[in-house]
Amino acid sequence: MIKVKVDRCGYCGACVGVCPVGAIELAETRLLINEACFDCGLCLAACPVGALKAEGYAETDVVPLRRRYDVVVVGAGPGGSVAAWEAAELGLSVLLLEKRQEIGSPVRCAEGVAHDLLMPFIEPDPHWISAEATKAQIAVIDDGATVARRAGGGKGYVLERRVFDRVLAEEAATAGAQVMVKTTATGLLLEDGVVRGVVARGPAGPLEIECAVVIGADGVESQVGPWAGLDTALSLRDTMACAQYLLAGIEIDSACCYYYVGQGVAPGGYAWVFPKGEGKANVGLGVQADLSDDSALNYLTRFIESQPDLAQGSPVTLVVGGVPVGSPLPRLVAGGLMLVGDAARQVDPLTGGGIVNAMLAGRLAAEVAAQAIAAGDTSAEALALYEKRWMAGRGRKMARNYRLKERFGPNERTSPDFLRVFAVAIGAK
Ligand SMILES: Cc1cc2nc3c(=O)[nH]c(=O)nc-3n(C[C@H](O)[C@H](O)[C@H](O)COP(=O)(O)OP(=O)(O)OC[C@H]3O[C@@H](n4cnc5c(N)ncnc54)[C@H](O)[C@@H]3O)c2cc1C
Ligand code: SF4
Ligand code: SF4
Repeated sequence: MIKVKVDRCGYCGACVGVCPVGAIELAETRLLINEACFDCGLCLAACPVGALKAEGYAETDVVPLRRRYDVVVVGAGPGGSVAAWEAAELGLSVLLLEKRQEIGSPVRCAEGVAHDLLMPFIEPDPHWISAEATKAQIAVIDDGATVARRAGGGKGYVLERRVFDRVLAEEAATAGAQVMVKTTATGLLLEDGVVRGVVARGPAGPLEIECAVVIGADGVESQVGPWAGLDTALSLRDTMACAQYLLAGIEIDSACCYYYVGQGVAPGGYAWVFPKGEGKANVGLGVQADLSDDSALNYLTRFIESQPDLAQGSPVTLVVGGVPVGSPLPRLVAGGLMLVGDAARQVDPLTGGGIVNAMLAGRLAAEVAAQAIAAGDTSAEALALYEKRWMAGRGRKMARNYRLKERFGPNERTSPDFLRVFAVAIGAK
Protein backbone atom coordinates (compact mmCIF):
# COMPACT_ATOMS: atom_id res chain seq x y z
CA MET A 1 0.00 0.00 0.00
CA ILE A 2 1.11 3.56 -0.67
CA LYS A 3 2.69 5.47 2.24
CA VAL A 4 2.79 9.23 2.84
CA LYS A 5 6.01 11.07 3.67
CA VAL A 6 4.51 13.53 6.11
CA ASP A 7 7.50 15.89 6.03
CA ARG A 8 6.91 16.44 2.34
CA CYS A 9 3.16 16.34 1.90
CA GLY A 10 1.80 19.81 1.21
CA TYR A 11 -1.82 18.66 1.67
CA CYS A 12 -2.75 19.95 -1.76
CA GLY A 13 -5.14 17.11 -2.67
CA ALA A 14 -3.74 16.49 -6.18
CA CYS A 15 -3.39 12.77 -5.43
CA VAL A 16 -6.98 12.45 -4.20
CA GLY A 17 -8.51 13.27 -7.55
CA VAL A 18 -6.52 10.71 -9.55
CA CYS A 19 -7.16 7.70 -7.30
CA PRO A 20 -9.59 5.41 -9.17
CA VAL A 21 -10.91 3.75 -6.00
CA GLY A 22 -11.21 6.75 -3.64
CA ALA A 23 -8.53 5.33 -1.34
CA ILE A 24 -7.09 8.73 -0.35
CA GLU A 25 -8.70 11.13 2.09
CA LEU A 26 -7.36 14.61 2.77
CA ALA A 27 -8.23 15.57 6.36
CA GLU A 28 -6.92 19.15 6.56
CA THR A 29 -3.28 18.43 7.51
CA ARG A 30 -3.41 14.63 7.39
CA LEU A 31 -3.48 12.47 4.33
CA LEU A 32 -5.03 9.05 4.95
CA ILE A 33 -4.78 6.07 2.61
CA ASN A 34 -7.17 3.20 3.22
CA GLU A 35 -7.12 -0.49 2.43
CA ALA A 36 -8.92 0.00 -0.90
CA CYS A 37 -5.52 1.02 -2.34
CA PHE A 38 -4.41 -1.57 -4.92
CA ASP A 39 -1.02 -0.03 -5.70
CA CYS A 40 -1.83 1.28 -9.16
CA GLY A 41 0.72 4.05 -8.64
CA LEU A 42 -1.30 6.83 -10.27
CA CYS A 43 -1.07 9.07 -7.23
CA LEU A 44 2.75 8.90 -7.22
CA ALA A 45 2.87 10.65 -10.55
CA ALA A 46 0.31 13.28 -9.52
CA CYS A 47 2.18 14.41 -6.41
CA PRO A 48 4.10 17.64 -7.05
CA VAL A 49 6.55 17.11 -4.17
CA GLY A 50 7.26 13.35 -4.22
CA ALA A 51 5.46 12.78 -0.93
CA LEU A 52 4.10 9.32 -1.75
CA LYS A 53 6.04 6.08 -1.81
CA ALA A 54 5.14 2.51 -2.70
CA GLU A 55 5.26 -0.40 -0.21
CA GLY A 56 8.75 -1.86 0.05
CA TYR A 57 10.29 1.37 -1.16
CA ALA A 58 13.72 1.61 0.41
CA GLU A 59 14.27 5.08 1.87
CA THR A 60 17.70 6.17 0.72
CA ASP A 61 19.63 7.79 3.55
CA VAL A 62 19.81 11.49 2.93
CA VAL A 63 23.25 12.61 3.95
CA PRO A 64 22.72 15.42 6.47
CA LEU A 65 23.75 18.74 5.06
CA ARG A 66 26.04 20.30 7.59
CA ARG A 67 25.92 24.07 7.53
CA ARG A 68 27.09 26.75 9.89
CA TYR A 69 25.50 30.05 10.91
CA ASP A 70 26.12 32.52 13.69
CA VAL A 71 22.52 32.16 14.86
CA VAL A 72 19.78 29.61 14.19
CA VAL A 73 16.28 30.75 15.20
CA VAL A 74 13.65 28.03 15.67
CA GLY A 75 10.12 29.25 14.92
CA ALA A 76 8.97 32.12 12.69
CA GLY A 77 6.30 33.66 14.94
CA PRO A 78 6.70 37.33 15.92
CA GLY A 79 9.43 36.47 18.47
CA GLY A 80 11.54 34.38 16.09
CA SER A 81 11.18 36.65 13.07
CA VAL A 82 12.12 39.79 15.01
CA ALA A 83 15.11 37.93 16.52
CA ALA A 84 16.22 36.86 13.03
CA TRP A 85 15.58 40.32 11.58
CA GLU A 86 17.56 42.08 14.33
CA ALA A 87 20.42 39.56 14.28
CA ALA A 88 20.73 39.90 10.49
CA GLU A 89 20.65 43.71 10.80
CA LEU A 90 23.51 43.40 13.29
CA GLY A 91 25.56 41.62 10.63
CA LEU A 92 25.21 38.03 11.83
CA SER A 93 24.58 35.06 9.53
CA VAL A 94 21.12 33.80 10.47
CA LEU A 95 18.93 30.82 9.65
CA LEU A 96 15.22 31.00 10.57
CA LEU A 97 13.48 27.60 10.69
CA GLU A 98 9.68 27.24 10.57
CA LYS A 99 7.86 23.94 10.66
CA ARG A 100 4.71 25.22 8.96
CA GLN A 101 4.53 25.45 5.20
CA GLU A 102 2.94 28.89 5.45
CA ILE A 103 4.28 31.31 8.05
CA GLY A 104 1.46 32.78 10.15
CA SER A 105 -1.09 30.11 9.32
CA PRO A 106 -3.12 28.74 11.00
CA VAL A 107 -3.61 31.74 13.30
CA ARG A 108 -3.78 31.04 17.04
CA CYS A 109 -4.50 34.53 18.33
CA ALA A 110 -7.13 37.22 18.96
CA GLU A 111 -4.69 39.60 17.18
CA GLY A 112 -4.97 42.62 19.50
CA VAL A 113 -1.94 44.90 20.02
CA ALA A 114 -1.46 48.35 21.53
CA HIS A 115 -0.25 51.08 19.14
CA ASP A 116 2.47 52.36 21.51
CA LEU A 117 4.00 48.93 22.01
CA LEU A 118 4.04 48.05 18.31
CA MET A 119 5.56 51.30 17.07
CA PRO A 120 9.18 50.61 18.12
CA PHE A 121 9.20 47.60 15.77
CA ILE A 122 7.25 48.35 12.64
CA GLU A 123 5.17 51.12 11.08
CA PRO A 124 1.46 50.15 11.05
CA ASP A 125 0.38 49.09 7.56
CA PRO A 126 -3.21 48.58 6.33
CA HIS A 127 -2.09 45.32 4.65
CA TRP A 128 -1.89 43.60 8.02
CA ILE A 129 -4.36 45.63 10.09
CA SER A 130 -8.00 44.51 10.14
CA ALA A 131 -9.29 47.23 12.44
CA GLU A 132 -8.07 50.23 14.39
CA ALA A 133 -9.57 50.50 17.87
CA THR A 134 -9.72 53.70 19.89
CA LYS A 135 -12.03 52.50 22.67
CA ALA A 136 -12.31 49.60 25.09
CA GLN A 137 -15.21 48.43 27.18
CA ILE A 138 -15.22 45.93 30.04
CA ALA A 139 -18.58 44.37 30.98
CA VAL A 140 -19.24 42.40 34.17
CA ILE A 141 -21.63 39.51 33.61
CA ASP A 142 -23.44 37.88 36.50
CA ASP A 143 -26.02 35.18 36.01
CA GLY A 144 -26.23 36.01 32.31
CA ALA A 145 -26.94 39.73 32.86
CA THR A 146 -24.57 42.69 32.43
CA VAL A 147 -24.32 44.24 35.91
CA ALA A 148 -21.56 46.82 35.35
CA ARG A 149 -19.58 48.41 32.55
CA ARG A 150 -16.32 50.29 32.44
CA ALA A 151 -15.25 52.21 29.36
CA GLY A 152 -11.85 53.55 28.40
CA GLY A 153 -9.77 54.74 25.50
CA GLY A 154 -6.46 53.68 24.01
CA LYS A 155 -5.24 53.27 20.45
CA GLY A 156 -4.69 49.73 19.29
CA TYR A 157 -4.96 47.42 16.32
CA VAL A 158 -6.55 44.11 15.54
CA LEU A 159 -4.00 42.55 13.23
CA GLU A 160 -4.32 40.15 10.34
CA ARG A 161 -1.64 37.86 11.73
CA ARG A 162 -1.63 35.61 8.72
CA VAL A 163 -0.07 38.58 6.87
CA PHE A 164 1.68 40.28 9.81
CA ASP A 165 3.75 37.21 10.75
CA ARG A 166 4.80 36.70 7.15
CA VAL A 167 5.78 40.35 6.78
CA LEU A 168 8.07 40.06 9.82
CA ALA A 169 9.73 36.97 8.29
CA GLU A 170 10.09 38.84 5.00
CA GLU A 171 11.79 41.70 6.86
CA ALA A 172 14.20 39.14 8.35
CA ALA A 173 14.90 37.76 4.86
CA THR A 174 15.37 41.26 3.44
CA ALA A 175 17.89 41.97 6.19
CA GLY A 176 19.85 38.89 5.08
CA ALA A 177 18.48 35.97 7.15
CA GLN A 178 17.88 32.69 5.35
CA VAL A 179 14.33 31.41 5.98
CA MET A 180 13.39 27.73 5.62
CA VAL A 181 9.72 26.75 5.83
CA LYS A 182 8.32 23.25 6.38
CA THR A 183 11.46 22.48 8.33
CA THR A 184 11.03 21.20 11.87
CA ALA A 185 13.74 21.35 14.53
CA THR A 186 13.82 17.89 16.10
CA GLY A 187 16.70 18.27 18.53
CA LEU A 188 19.86 20.14 19.45
CA LEU A 189 23.51 19.43 18.74
CA LEU A 190 25.15 19.35 22.18
CA GLU A 191 28.82 19.25 23.12
CA ASP A 192 29.65 18.82 26.80
CA GLY A 193 26.17 20.10 27.64
CA VAL A 194 26.61 23.26 25.55
CA VAL A 195 24.32 23.87 22.56
CA ARG A 196 26.26 23.88 19.28
CA GLY A 197 23.45 23.72 16.76
CA VAL A 198 20.13 22.27 15.67
CA VAL A 199 18.98 18.98 14.20
CA ALA A 200 16.07 19.47 11.82
CA ARG A 201 13.92 17.63 9.30
CA GLY A 202 12.73 19.29 6.12
CA PRO A 203 11.34 18.31 2.72
CA ALA A 204 14.87 17.50 1.53
CA GLY A 205 15.58 15.23 4.49
CA PRO A 206 17.46 15.57 7.77
CA LEU A 207 19.75 18.50 8.48
CA GLU A 208 22.38 19.27 11.08
CA ILE A 209 23.14 22.94 11.38
CA GLU A 210 25.95 24.23 13.56
CA CYS A 211 25.84 27.69 15.07
CA ALA A 212 27.17 29.83 17.91
CA VAL A 213 23.72 30.57 19.37
CA VAL A 214 20.30 28.94 19.01
CA ILE A 215 17.29 31.17 19.71
CA GLY A 216 14.29 29.01 20.61
CA ALA A 217 11.13 30.87 19.53
CA ASP A 218 9.02 27.77 19.02
CA GLY A 219 5.89 29.00 20.74
CA VAL A 220 3.69 27.49 23.42
CA GLU A 221 4.51 23.96 22.19
CA SER A 222 8.24 24.66 22.63
CA GLN A 223 10.65 21.77 23.01
CA VAL A 224 13.88 23.69 22.47
CA GLY A 225 14.19 24.76 26.13
CA PRO A 226 13.61 21.27 27.59
CA TRP A 227 16.08 19.80 25.05
CA ALA A 228 18.72 22.08 26.63
CA GLY A 229 17.68 21.16 30.17
CA LEU A 230 15.61 24.31 30.87
CA ASP A 231 12.45 23.83 32.89
CA THR A 232 9.58 25.43 30.95
CA ALA A 233 6.81 23.14 32.22
CA LEU A 234 3.41 24.79 32.61
CA SER A 235 0.97 24.04 35.41
CA LEU A 236 -2.76 23.90 34.61
CA ARG A 237 -3.22 26.88 36.93
CA ASP A 238 -0.89 28.91 34.71
CA THR A 239 -2.47 27.82 31.45
CA MET A 240 -5.44 29.47 29.77
CA ALA A 241 -7.41 27.17 27.48
CA CYS A 242 -8.81 29.36 24.68
CA ALA A 243 -11.34 29.08 21.90
CA GLN A 244 -12.34 31.73 19.39
CA TYR A 245 -14.54 32.12 16.35
CA LEU A 246 -14.15 34.74 13.68
CA LEU A 247 -17.82 35.72 13.47
CA ALA A 248 -19.18 37.33 10.32
CA GLY A 249 -22.53 39.07 9.94
CA ILE A 250 -22.64 40.84 13.30
CA GLU A 251 -23.24 44.43 14.27
CA ILE A 252 -20.65 45.90 16.62
CA ASP A 253 -18.76 49.16 16.94
CA SER A 254 -15.69 48.44 14.81
CA ALA A 255 -13.57 50.93 16.79
CA CYS A 256 -14.14 49.25 20.18
CA CYS A 257 -12.55 46.19 21.81
CA TYR A 258 -14.97 44.51 24.23
CA TYR A 259 -14.00 42.43 27.28
CA TYR A 260 -16.38 40.39 29.47
CA VAL A 261 -15.59 39.05 32.95
CA GLY A 262 -17.64 36.79 35.20
CA GLN A 263 -17.35 33.29 36.60
CA GLY A 264 -20.11 31.97 34.37
CA VAL A 265 -18.52 33.51 31.25
CA ALA A 266 -14.91 32.36 31.62
CA PRO A 267 -13.66 31.07 35.00
CA GLY A 268 -10.32 32.70 35.85
CA GLY A 269 -10.21 34.43 32.47
CA TYR A 270 -12.35 36.62 30.22
CA ALA A 271 -14.16 36.74 26.93
CA TRP A 272 -13.24 39.18 24.17
CA VAL A 273 -14.83 40.66 21.07
CA PHE A 274 -12.18 42.31 18.91
CA PRO A 275 -13.42 43.97 15.69
CA LYS A 276 -12.02 42.63 12.42
CA GLY A 277 -13.55 45.18 10.08
CA GLU A 278 -17.12 45.78 8.98
CA GLY A 279 -19.50 43.19 10.44
CA LYS A 280 -16.77 40.83 11.70
CA ALA A 281 -15.01 40.16 15.00
CA ASN A 282 -12.74 37.72 16.76
CA VAL A 283 -15.03 36.43 19.50
CA GLY A 284 -13.28 34.20 21.98
CA LEU A 285 -12.50 33.42 25.58
CA GLY A 286 -9.89 31.85 27.79
CA VAL A 287 -10.58 29.78 30.90
CA GLN A 288 -8.03 28.89 33.58
CA ALA A 289 -7.37 25.23 32.80
CA ASP A 290 -7.60 23.92 36.37
CA LEU A 291 -10.88 25.71 37.13
CA SER A 292 -13.13 24.90 34.24
CA ASP A 293 -15.68 22.14 34.46
CA ASP A 294 -16.22 22.30 30.72
CA SER A 295 -14.25 22.96 27.55
CA ALA A 296 -13.43 26.52 26.49
CA LEU A 297 -15.31 25.83 23.25
CA ASN A 298 -18.52 25.01 25.15
CA TYR A 299 -18.13 28.14 27.29
CA LEU A 300 -17.72 30.12 24.07
CA THR A 301 -20.82 28.61 22.49
CA ARG A 302 -22.86 29.54 25.57
CA PHE A 303 -21.38 33.05 25.68
CA ILE A 304 -22.24 33.73 22.03
CA GLU A 305 -25.77 32.38 22.51
CA SER A 306 -26.22 34.74 25.49
CA GLN A 307 -25.34 37.85 23.45
CA PRO A 308 -28.05 38.65 20.86
CA ASP A 309 -25.65 40.87 18.84
CA LEU A 310 -23.24 37.97 18.43
CA ALA A 311 -25.70 35.10 18.19
CA GLN A 312 -26.91 36.41 14.81
CA GLY A 313 -23.40 35.94 13.31
CA SER A 314 -21.85 32.94 11.60
CA PRO A 315 -18.50 31.44 12.55
CA VAL A 316 -16.15 31.40 9.56
CA THR A 317 -12.97 30.36 11.40
CA LEU A 318 -12.33 28.39 14.59
CA VAL A 319 -9.15 29.05 16.58
CA VAL A 320 -8.12 27.07 19.64
CA GLY A 321 -4.96 27.37 21.69
CA GLY A 322 -3.24 27.46 25.04
CA VAL A 323 -1.74 30.60 26.57
CA PRO A 324 0.97 30.43 29.25
CA VAL A 325 0.15 32.87 32.06
CA GLY A 326 2.76 32.01 34.68
CA SER A 327 5.34 34.13 36.48
CA PRO A 328 8.60 34.87 34.60
CA LEU A 329 10.83 31.81 34.24
CA PRO A 330 13.99 32.01 36.37
CA ARG A 331 16.17 30.73 33.48
CA LEU A 332 15.85 31.76 29.85
CA VAL A 333 19.35 30.77 28.71
CA ALA A 334 21.75 27.85 28.64
CA GLY A 335 25.20 27.64 27.06
CA GLY A 336 24.65 28.58 23.38
CA LEU A 337 20.87 28.95 23.76
CA MET A 338 18.22 31.58 24.48
CA LEU A 339 14.43 31.29 24.64
CA VAL A 340 12.02 34.02 23.55
CA GLY A 341 8.27 34.59 23.41
CA ASP A 342 5.78 31.88 24.31
CA ALA A 343 8.67 29.38 24.40
CA ALA A 344 10.01 31.47 27.32
CA ARG A 345 6.46 31.93 28.71
CA GLN A 346 6.80 35.72 28.24
CA VAL A 347 3.07 36.40 28.12
CA ASP A 348 1.26 38.97 30.26
CA PRO A 349 -0.38 36.87 33.03
CA LEU A 350 -3.41 39.18 33.31
CA THR A 351 -4.26 39.75 29.66
CA GLY A 352 -2.69 36.77 27.88
CA GLY A 353 -1.09 39.21 25.43
CA GLY A 354 2.23 37.93 24.08
CA ILE A 355 2.79 39.30 20.57
CA VAL A 356 4.77 42.41 21.46
CA ASN A 357 6.48 40.72 24.42
CA ALA A 358 7.79 38.07 22.00
CA MET A 359 9.03 40.78 19.61
CA LEU A 360 10.74 42.66 22.42
CA ALA A 361 12.39 39.50 23.71
CA GLY A 362 13.45 38.55 20.17
CA ARG A 363 15.18 41.91 19.72
CA LEU A 364 16.89 41.73 23.13
CA ALA A 365 18.06 38.17 22.53
CA ALA A 366 19.52 39.08 19.13
CA GLU A 367 21.40 42.06 20.60
CA VAL A 368 22.89 39.94 23.37
CA ALA A 369 23.73 37.14 20.92
CA ALA A 370 25.60 39.63 18.70
CA GLN A 371 27.61 40.95 21.67
CA ALA A 372 28.41 37.43 22.89
CA ILE A 373 29.47 36.23 19.43
CA ALA A 374 31.68 39.30 18.95
CA ALA A 375 33.33 38.62 22.32
CA GLY A 376 33.76 34.91 21.46
CA ASP A 377 31.85 33.85 24.58
CA THR A 378 28.39 32.32 24.18
CA SER A 379 28.37 30.58 27.55
CA ALA A 380 25.27 30.64 29.77
CA GLU A 381 27.00 33.31 31.90
CA ALA A 382 27.53 35.61 28.90
CA LEU A 383 23.99 35.09 27.55
CA ALA A 384 22.50 35.74 31.01
CA LEU A 385 22.73 39.45 30.13
CA TYR A 386 19.52 38.80 28.14
CA GLU A 387 17.76 37.49 31.28
CA LYS A 388 18.92 40.52 33.25
CA ARG A 389 17.75 42.97 30.61
CA TRP A 390 14.40 41.19 30.28
CA MET A 391 13.81 41.21 34.04
CA ALA A 392 14.83 44.87 34.32
CA GLY A 393 12.10 45.81 31.84
CA ARG A 394 9.07 43.87 30.61
CA GLY A 395 9.80 40.87 32.85
CA ARG A 396 9.32 43.02 35.93
CA LYS A 397 5.91 44.13 34.70
CA MET A 398 5.04 40.49 34.02
CA ALA A 399 6.03 39.56 37.58
CA ARG A 400 3.84 42.37 38.95
CA ASN A 401 0.87 41.28 36.84
CA TYR A 402 1.36 37.67 37.98
CA ARG A 403 1.16 38.83 41.60
CA LEU A 404 -2.06 40.70 40.76
CA LYS A 405 -3.48 37.63 39.00
CA GLU A 406 -2.81 35.60 42.14
CA ARG A 407 -4.18 38.30 44.45
CA PHE A 408 -7.52 38.53 42.65
CA GLY A 409 -8.79 34.96 42.75
CA PRO A 410 -11.35 33.79 40.17
CA ASN A 411 -14.25 34.88 42.44
CA GLU A 412 -12.89 38.43 42.75
CA ARG A 413 -12.59 39.14 39.03
CA THR A 414 -15.76 41.20 39.03
CA SER A 415 -14.75 43.54 41.88
CA PRO A 416 -14.23 47.26 41.10
CA ASP A 417 -10.59 46.92 42.24
CA PHE A 418 -9.91 44.13 39.76
CA LEU A 419 -11.64 46.05 36.96
CA ARG A 420 -9.30 48.99 37.62
CA VAL A 421 -6.27 46.68 37.48
CA PHE A 422 -7.54 44.93 34.36
CA ALA A 423 -8.30 48.23 32.61
CA VAL A 424 -4.67 49.31 33.14
CA ALA A 425 -3.37 45.92 31.91
CA ILE A 426 -5.34 46.10 28.64
CA GLY A 427 -4.28 49.71 28.11
CA ALA A 428 -7.79 51.19 28.50
CA LYS A 429 -7.00 54.51 30.13
C1 LIG B 1 -6.61 32.17 21.42
C2 LIG B 1 -5.43 33.07 21.62
C3 LIG B 1 -5.62 34.44 21.59
C4 LIG B 1 -4.52 35.30 21.77
N1 LIG B 1 -4.73 36.65 21.65
C5 LIG B 1 -3.70 37.50 21.76
C6 LIG B 1 -3.88 38.90 21.56
O1 LIG B 1 -4.99 39.37 21.26
N2 LIG B 1 -2.82 39.71 21.69
C7 LIG B 1 -1.57 39.23 22.00
O2 LIG B 1 -0.63 40.04 22.14
N3 LIG B 1 -1.36 37.92 22.18
C8 LIG B 1 -2.39 37.02 22.04
N4 LIG B 1 -2.17 35.68 22.16
C9 LIG B 1 -0.80 35.20 22.44
C10 LIG B 1 0.05 35.29 21.18
O3 LIG B 1 -0.58 34.63 20.11
C11 LIG B 1 1.42 34.68 21.45
O4 LIG B 1 1.92 35.16 22.67
C12 LIG B 1 2.42 35.00 20.33
O5 LIG B 1 2.03 34.42 19.12
C13 LIG B 1 3.80 34.51 20.72
O6 LIG B 1 4.69 34.66 19.66
P1 LIG B 1 5.91 33.65 19.51
O7 LIG B 1 6.71 34.13 18.36
O8 LIG B 1 6.56 33.46 20.82
O9 LIG B 1 5.23 32.22 19.18
P2 LIG B 1 4.27 31.77 18.02
O10 LIG B 1 3.57 32.91 17.40
O11 LIG B 1 3.46 30.65 18.58
O12 LIG B 1 5.28 31.19 16.94
C14 LIG B 1 6.00 30.01 17.18
C15 LIG B 1 6.38 29.44 15.83
O13 LIG B 1 7.29 28.36 16.03
C16 LIG B 1 6.98 27.32 15.11
N5 LIG B 1 7.54 26.09 15.64
C17 LIG B 1 7.15 25.41 16.75
N6 LIG B 1 7.93 24.32 16.95
C18 LIG B 1 8.84 24.32 15.92
C19 LIG B 1 9.90 23.43 15.56
N7 LIG B 1 10.18 22.35 16.30
N8 LIG B 1 10.62 23.71 14.45
C20 LIG B 1 10.30 24.80 13.67
N9 LIG B 1 9.30 25.66 13.97
C21 LIG B 1 8.59 25.43 15.09
C22 LIG B 1 5.44 27.35 15.09
O14 LIG B 1 4.95 26.71 13.92
C23 LIG B 1 5.16 28.84 15.10
O15 LIG B 1 5.11 29.39 13.80
C24 LIG B 1 -3.23 34.77 21.99
C25 LIG B 1 -3.05 33.40 22.02
C26 LIG B 1 -4.13 32.54 21.83
C27 LIG B 1 -3.91 31.05 21.84
S1 SF4 C 1 -1.73 3.71 -5.58
FE1 SF4 C 1 -3.61 3.88 -6.81
S2 SF4 C 1 -5.20 2.97 -5.56
FE2 SF4 C 1 -3.48 3.36 -4.19
S3 SF4 C 1 -3.91 5.38 -3.32
FE3 SF4 C 1 -2.59 5.73 -5.11
S4 SF4 C 1 -4.05 6.10 -6.80
FE4 SF4 C 1 -5.25 5.14 -5.13
S1 SF4 D 1 -0.37 15.17 -4.04
FE1 SF4 D 1 1.42 14.93 -2.72
S2 SF4 D 1 1.52 16.89 -1.57
FE2 SF4 D 1 -0.55 16.78 -2.48
S3 SF4 D 1 -1.82 15.84 -0.86
FE3 SF4 D 1 -1.12 14.15 -2.18
S4 SF4 D 1 0.77 13.41 -1.20
FE4 SF4 D 1 0.33 15.43 -0.30
